[in-house]
Amino acid sequence: MPGINCIGILTSGGDAPGMNAAIRAVTRSAIYSGLKVKGIYRGYKGLITDEIVEFKTQNVSNIIQMGGTILKTARCKEFETPEGRRLAYSVLKEHGIDALVVIGGDGSLTGARIFATEFNFPIVGLPGTIDNDLYGTDTTIGYDTALNTIMECVDKIRDTATSHERLFFIEVMGRDAGFLALNGAIASGAEAAIIPEISTEVDQLAELIQNGFRKSKNSSIVLVAESPVTGGAMALAERVKKEYPTYDVRVSILGHLQRGGSPTAHDRILASRMGAAAVDAFLDDQRNVMIGVKNDEIVYVPFAKAIKNDKPINRDLLNTLRRLSI
Ligand code: ADP
Repeated sequence: MPGINCIGILTSGGDAPGMNAAIRAVTRSAIYSGLKVKGIYRGYKGLITDEIVEFKTQNVSNIIQMGGTILKTARCKEFETPEGRRLAYSVLKEHGIDALVVIGGDGSLTGARIFATEFNFPIVGLPGTIDNDLYGTDTTIGYDTALNTIMECVDKIRDTATSHERLFFIEVMGRDAGFLALNGAIASGAEAAIIPEISTEVDQLAELIQNGFRKSKNSSIVLVAESPVTGGAMALAERVKKEYPTYDVRVSILGHLQRGGSPTAHDRILASRMGAAAVDAFLDDQRNVMIGVKNDEIVYVPFAKAIKNDKPINRDLLNTLRRLSI
């Protein structure tokens, strides 16, 4: 591994189930390859304020099954300034850290990219976000767990929706992406998903009602991606109440429970593979790349691509949902 003896690892931005499995995998793979590992607490914030501890294999024992992140996570405005990043660089140097693994979403990898370029510092990113909104990877760490949580919640809400013959708008996370809403709708047998990707193309609510989504059913469930573009579940419910006063409408916002819980087997395996691949990437003299998975193969995605490109939704899934909700 050219010039790399010690790897720092941090989690940043929104937490996601599976981050711990990734921390474990990076730590153990690095130690396996004869490297030192240092855990940086509270993301870029802890990097600037020097919250850094050397990790041995025991530091990551018994964490693969835990949600959240043992390294804690934070948002850090200071890292968005050149002075903040300069401080971060000097702390890394003091600790003898000569490469960094950043686990986080779009924002965290944007910060990583800027820092890596400014200081010519080797960084590998792992896509840790429940939103699945990073380009160049089929899936992200935490997405599968969140999807399963959504499915379980919708199954429960369905009992009330059916018993009271109600129309439920269930708001799910996703930032500006509809992956959780669309796949959550298919997995839970919902009638529709309202997602930001097609909000500018069609009035999804009008389309839904025109298609007579209550013709054959007395209760309905619609998943709505939280986003200024969709307006969110509350705004859609208000619109239905005004335009279709006969409907008995309710709203449920799933909120932060979507982030929590023990990671699924899928997320644990994904995080383990990606964590090991991050160390391999340094061995291959790769830098400034995000680890992705494409067709079940590990790939290296340049930061610029992962961050800048919008990840498209699979339109076949929309079609499938429409066909199955008649
Ligand atoms: P996520 O990684 O989940 O998308 P955020 O968007 O909140 O989370 O970003 C996490 C952190 O990444 C920010 O608090 C900041 O420290 C850093 N970051 C985000 N954008 C930038 C940027 N343009 N320049 C430098 N750092 C950034």
